[in-house]
Amino acid sequence: MPELPEVETVKRGLAPVMEGSRIRRAELRRPDLRFPFPPAFSEVLEGRRIVSLGRRAKYLLIDIEGGDVVIAHLGMSGSFRVEGASEVETPGDFQIPRSKDARHDHVVFHLETADGERRVVYNDPRRFGFMDLARREVLAAHPFFRDLGEEPTGNTLDADYIAAKFRGRQAPLKAALLDQKNIAGLGNIYVCEALWRAHLSPERLAGTLVTAVGKPKKELVALTEAIRQVIADAIEAGGSTLRDHIRADGSLGYFQHSFSVYDREKEPCRTPGCTGTIGRIVQSGRSTFHCAVCQK
Ligand SMILES: [Zn+2]
Repeated sequence: MPELPEVETVKRGLAPVMEGSRIRRAELRRPDLRFPFPPAFSEVLEGRRIVSLGRRAKYLLIDIEGGDVVIAHLGMSGSFRVEGASEVETPGDFQIPRSKDARHDHVVFHLETADGERRVVYNDPRRFGFMDLARREVLAAHPFFRDLGEEPTGNTLDADYIAAKFRGRQAPLKAALLDQKNIAGLGNIYVCEALWRAHLSPERLAGTLVTAVGKPKKELVALTEAIRQVIADAIEAGGSTLRDHIRADGSLGYFQHSFSVYDREKEPCRTPGCTGTIGRIVQSGRSTFHCAVCQK
């Protein structure tokens, strides 16, 4: 499952091609992905100009002139690539290499851009991704978005906000941080990384980071900073793959994330001075990687 920084990187990679371009044709090669495409998907988009690309949690948002918005989710294996000009580009930064097998090209946006014709192709072998349409004015109330908490990017996520969410909560930190009603788009990998950076046990109860009067303890201030930083670092790393791409020969190499704790079971902890070993536990059916020595 692509995490928020990967979706943000896809958005940043597609924006220069898609923003301001006109959709000549929105070609659907099958009636559904995870869900059926909305009726009239192609008709609504054809001939219309793309105003801007955005992101909310792990959803890519394509604002179309006239107020319609394409909501796209990459599911497990979805990716976009840009064709036309002379090369093929796959904007993004994925854990698992993305398919370029044409049998899995399910949606093709035929675009008129300032640089000529381009095709933005959505490929998804497992078809857990989906696309939907909504009106911009009701997007915040849409079932995908209405219950989402703050984004870990930007300046809205602060320790007071999380303290209000965590106050009195008996859930382990891991579960409380994965809860999209608290923080939108934070996934398993970056929750593990943020807890490790903040030296907090994934099994600690969320409410223990909040004082009796509902203020954030020092540890929650550190955790908030760790969350924001771990996401910012990953987006920065994704952005550097896009910059590398511009310098390179046209093919985008897949950036290999290097994590400090995620997927490092039995390896030494990287906290300076810590002699611990990374362990793996299962919480709510998901693997949690942590160091029992320095995460309390
Ligand atoms: Zn450690």
